[in-house]
Amino acid sequence: MSQKRIAIFGSTGSIGTQALEVIEANTDKFSAEVLTAQTNEELLIQQALKFKPNVVVIGDEKKYTKVKEALSRTDIKVFAGENALLQVAAMDCYDLMLAAIVGYAGLKPTLEALDNGKAVALANKETLVVAGDIVMKKALEKRVPVIPVDSEHSAIFQCLVGETRNRIEKVILTASGGPFRGKKPNFLVNVKRDHALQHPNWTMGAKITIDSATLMNKGLEMIEAKWLFNLKPEQIQVVIHPQSIIHSMVQFEDGSIKAQMGLPDMKLPIQYSLGFPNRIPTNSPRLNFKTYSTLTFEEPDLKTFRNLGLAMEALNKGGNMPSILNAANEIAVYAFLRNRIGFLDMTEVVEQTMTKITYIESPTLEEYFESDGEARSFAASLIQL
Ligand code: NAD
Ligand code: MG
Repeated sequence: MSQKRIAIFGSTGSIGTQALEVIEANTDKFSAEVLTAQTNEELLIQQALKFKPNVVVIGDEKKYTKVKEALSRTDIKVFAGENALLQVAAMDCYDLMLAAIVGYAGLKPTLEALDNGKAVALANKETLVVAGDIVMKKALEKRVPVIPVDSEHSAIFQCLVGETRNRIEKVILTASGGPFRGKKPNFLVNVKRDHALQHPNWTMGAKITIDSATLMNKGLEMIEAKWLFNLKPEQIQVVIHPQSIIHSMVQFEDGSIKAQMGLPDMKLPIQYSLGFPNRIPTNSPRLNFKTYSTLTFEEPDLKTFRNLGLAMEALNKGGNMPSILNAANEIAVYAFLRNRIGFLDMTEVVEQTMTKITYIESPTLEEYFESDGEARSFAASLIQL
């Protein structure tokens, strides 16, 4: 079998580095042909020297010279800047894009990859939150798969293998509940960034870790599920499952529920997405039922974690509302990470932005971009950034 050539957009992040570990352990199956990073040029250089890709992109143009010089003895092509991401996404040197950039910035490169007929392993959930209809339509038109990497959606995807003829009654997304499960607003009001960055079960990038603490992450995942699996809002349920062993479930019309389980380890969904439809053997630790003798389930506390309710509202409303929610949330999370606003203020920023920006029922791609920009400016004005 020939190697599958992988382009990792966001190779220096939590998903990107774990994907490179998967590739390193399976050089007979995969090669890394494109690596991209926004600011961490040191790690990008190290990765490039080790994996010898065809091309690297450094987002921050000020760092171009340093990367170029460090790779001058190799034949690795070096590009810089936002437009370079799009040019590289259109290149022939890879077969599958792992979309592992965080946030809205991942949307355009992913669309470009699909437009060029590339399969996409999608970690970047914000892409589907912002413009899920356009992204999925593009994939259908080009007849290329969008394979989920997010653990919940990978679980659902795995449960659906062999079920093409059977209708989904509903999907049940599991959520760990994050570090503040069971806490109330009087506690949350004083939460600081360092505490919020400590997730009980997963080690991830800063933005998604904060989203997990506010439960916005689960809301974004409901919207992601809608587009990936063509579901109506009422077919998507969230249940809190603190042990993170069941990664999500699908309920069929006969009442049967299929679940995908395993220890919480993102390498599993990452490698499933790269190897699909084949499973790749690993020696990673196995689930021991003696250690996890109790699996528990709870209703989410929508009164305390209002972000989840706001995301449900955006899911139900559709149109550009999820893109407004996402833009305001990105601004709010980065302000919280810089200690500019408090934990509960993030919800206020999102809620106020959702009421302010003009609603469009069926936006074009341009209108999605515009809504994103407007929502960002308004959210930033609330915080006085
Ligand atoms: P991260 O912050 O660790 O890494 C982000 C990557 O994107 C880095 O390589 C960075 O250089 C690049 N990047 C950041 N801003 C950019 C910009 N403006 N333009 C171009 N590149 C940029 O994030 P992560 O935790 O790896 O998450 C990546 C995506 O995967 C997110 O959308 C997240 O929701 C999703 N995801 C992550 C996990 C996880 O376990 N980390 C799980 C499920 C889904
Ligand atoms: Mg997830």
